[in-house]
Amino acid sequence: MNMQEYIEEAERDLLHTYNRYQIVLDRGEGVYLYDIEGIKYLDFVAGIAVFALGYHNKEYNDALKAQIDRLTHTSNYYYNVPAVNAARKLKAVSGMDRVFFTNSGAEAVEGALKAARKYAYLKDGRTDHEIIAMNHSFHGRTFGALSVTGNPKYREAFAPMIGNIRFADFNDLESVRNQITDRTCAVILEPVQGEGGLTPASEEFLKGVKALCQERDILLILDEIQCGMGRTGYMFAWQRYGVKPDIMTTAKALGCGVPVGAFLMTEKVASASLAAGDHGTTYGGNPLVCTAVEKVLDLFEENHIMEHVREVAPYLEKCLDELKDRYDCIVERRGTGLMQGLVFDRPVGDIITRALEEGLILINAGPNIIRFVPPLIVSRENIDEMADILDGCIAVL
Ligand SMILES: *Cc1c(COP(=O)(O)O)cnc(C)c1O
Repeated sequence: MNMQEYIEEAERDLLHTYNRYQIVLDRGEGVYLYDIEGIKYLDFVAGIAVFALGYHNKEYNDALKAQIDRLTHTSNYYYNVPAVNAARKLKAVSGMDRVFFTNSGAEAVEGALKAARKYAYLKDGRTDHEIIAMNHSFHGRTFGALSVTGNPKYREAFAPMIGNIRFADFNDLESVRNQITDRTCAVILEPVQGEGGLTPASEEFLKGVKALCQERDILLILDEIQCGMGRTGYMFAWQRYGVKPDIMTTAKALGCGVPVGAFLMTEKVASASLAAGDHGTTYGGNPLVCTAVEKVLDLFEENHIMEHVREVAPYLEKCLDELKDRYDCIVERRGTGLMQGLVFDRPVGDIITRALEEGLILINAGPNIIRFVPPLIVSRENIDEMADILDGCIAVL
């Protein structure tokens, strides 16, 4: 079948929950992807902040292949070595005390919310606790995660959500304070909002929320699913501010391409929340995905990924700032590290489609923002190539 035939069949067979770009991807190499007709694309999306190490990393692939021949799944009723190693390494880079592996980001958020509710329940026996989430946040598509997602468009048709969620404004400490009641058990937020528009939390805000939480023994849940794993030049974005969460979620780049996420917590929360029988997953933390996590964390260290991000990210910022200065239709550059956005005064769909035709893969975050979340191994030359193509696409608007 040719590309068009695959696309037509996909549109007949797959549920139409995505308006997909018209390419069928086949393989990858570094920061490049190839479609089934052999056309090459520079990829500044990385499967949405997933492929941190780039495509076709030999050591990563070899580790997974070896594990496939050994064992890919056990029930969580038994121990397995990759999960033990992955948890130890994840604890070391996060400074958190306990890990629960999930299959996705949304599931990590679900687990975090359950842990927070159970913690509060064990304290006062009430079953009407509230959670504060942020406007413009994104935490996933399952009911719990959707309930704390601050985008009414995603929630509306699926009401009712889980109850007792209050929304506050991101980077507005007063608005968080105003939502606190004697029933508040947790505040959940992304240190850098991803889907909501590449907005980093200000230091005062994050520190202020932490202080509010500490005063009242409210748990701070930080969602690091998109902004974590080195993307901002820190393993987890909160580390830059020194604002340690009580519960943290991670996924996306954690497995660099296999479905794995995790929620982590401090011992204080772990010892007084979820206990045997309270939470589970069939696949979560299986030997295959944990081999990936373990290898990813090793490769981050061996290849000095964070140092590299800190070195190239300012260059990406500079190139995006130059584009902004050149074109009136670009209103603002936002973001931090290799998690950047260009805000336009108009929908960006046409620019992204044109870029694809020119061999550059980009994605939006909301209708007017182009998001840049390339593999973390991206080079200055790759950034130059991206900026050139994008420049050409904006010029012909
Ligand atoms: C992608 C994302 C999620 C959801 O992760 P899935 O693996 O798609 O369920 C949750 N939170 C944030 C911040 C994300 O970027």
